[in-house]
Amino acid sequence: MHNITLIKGDGIGPEISDAVLKIIDAAGVNINWDIQTAGADVIEIEGVPLPQRVIDSVKKNKVALKSPVTTPIGKGFRSVNVQLRKELDLYSNLRPCYNLPNVKTRYDGVDIVVVRENTEDLYAGIERQVDDDTAESIKRITRFASERIAKFAFDYAVNNGRKFVTVVTKANICKLSDGLFLDSARKVAQNYDIPLKEILVDNCCMQLVQNPNQFDVLLLPNLYGDIVSDLCAGLIGGLGVAQGANIGKDYAVFEPVHGSAPDIAGQNKANPTAMLMSAIEMLNYIEEKDAGYRIKSALFKTLENDIKTADIGGTTSCTDFTDSIISRL
Ligand code: ATP
Repeated sequence: MHNITLIKGDGIGPEISDAVLKIIDAAGVNINWDIQTAGADVIEIEGVPLPQRVIDSVKKNKVALKSPVTTPIGKGFRSVNVQLRKELDLYSNLRPCYNLPNVKTRYDGVDIVVVRENTEDLYAGIERQVDDDTAESIKRITRFASERIAKFAFDYAVNNGRKFVTVVTKANICKLSDGLFLDSARKVAQNYDIPLKEILVDNCCMQLVQNPNQFDVLLLPNLYGDIVSDLCAGLIGGLGVAQGANIGKDYAVFEPVHGSAPDIAGQNKANPTAMLMSAIEMLNYIEEKDAGYRIKSALFKTLENDIKTADIGGTTSCTDFTDSIISRL
């Protein structure tokens, strides 16, 4: 029996969490889910969007599966996602992007792993209103955080048979901050046999949409990592299929790349694939590899049979898609 925290989120969060829990249960994995709520609805009752109980639960269980929690744009509370990553020191954001069967995309054979630094950069939340018409954000980069994420990227590359790592910066403009990130990557690379390539983020975006198959592992600071992850999600069929994990020294939180998709919430239209792929990585992480393999095969067979949600060109509802996967387990 595994004890795992489930953060249910809002928007499409509850729908896709229910789908994934049903599939994992049908696969026969024994998980005692510690269900935790967070976000705007929680503020009304508990005064904060991310109560200490959620953090304590992940600290106790060490592993969490999380569905999206809405981040208000331009005002309101600080992102629960960012806060959680910070509180638990989940310094690496890992987003493997590869084509899924029968999901129409511009390119075949995409197989990119995005490794994004998760704790600093413009996400450190150091902002100030200078006057009514001027605002500032501090882009904070440290050698400590840059070296440990570079080490994570290289270790991942070694352990997963990847060929090279490309560090992505704008070090020609942000000479000090991105310069430090780049320098740290170069330093760490000296300890590995795997080569380090370097590219500027603007060129990287162009190359990704023109020829994504030239990339292997991408190593990026927080903000570029966020943007490039969504770009890579677009290459493999969109946010509905893009998985993610936040991993630190002591804890791991698995979550889809996408947000809470309020535009389709409550309509039984959401694609649970991104959350399911994240959960499969979680099962691998807790050494339930056989169940992870069986669920992935059932998912792939479902897609091969052209059973797909609307975001990837089908007509199947979230619940019917879920039941189709279960019937193929
Ligand atoms: P955030 O800033 O919180 O990450 P976002 O701005 O990236 O959020 P999303 O909530 O991810 O936005 O949604 C972007 C678009 O993708 C929306 O049109 C949404 O409906 C769609 N989308 C996201 N996730 C899914 C999903 N699982 N299934 C179907 N469509 C989705």
